[in-house]
Amino acid sequence: MATDCVFCKIVSGEIKTELVHQDGDVVAFRDIHPRAPVHVLVVPRDHVPGVAEVPGGHSLIGHMVAVANLLAKQEKVAGSGYRLVVNQGPDSGQEVRHLHMHLLGGKRLGPMG
Ligand code: 5GP
Ligand code: ZN
Repeated sequence: MATDCVFCKIVSGEIKTELVHQDGDVVAFRDIHPRAPVHVLVVPRDHVPGVAEVPGGHSLIGHMVAVANLLAKQEKVAGSGYRLVVNQGPDSGQEVRHLHMHLLGGKRLGPMG
């Protein structure tokens, strides 16, 4: 755990946040500033700063995608479609340096850019 990390504090329960999914490896909760009707963050329990730090061959990203797909069904956007986003570093606008995957859906999403 990184003591100054907001997502570590959510994982530990220090910051109270309703979880929409939890298992041994990841938790998921709604983004505090939703950019779409469905905007959920899938976050590993371990403090990995970003996708660049995930060890090669590690199964974590696959698990995060599986959880995001499950949540897309739960949130009823599996049929209409959704977007999974992982930001890495300054040009991506990554704000929180604790790996997370955005699940966005529930409206027609704009072009990527
Ligand atoms: P990033 O830009 O790093 O990919 O995305 C970080 C996301 O975390 C942002 O969309 C931001 O709104 C969200 N966020 C930041 N702090 C909190 C928080 O304390 N609680 C929740 N639920 N979301 C947060
Ligand atoms: Zn952290």
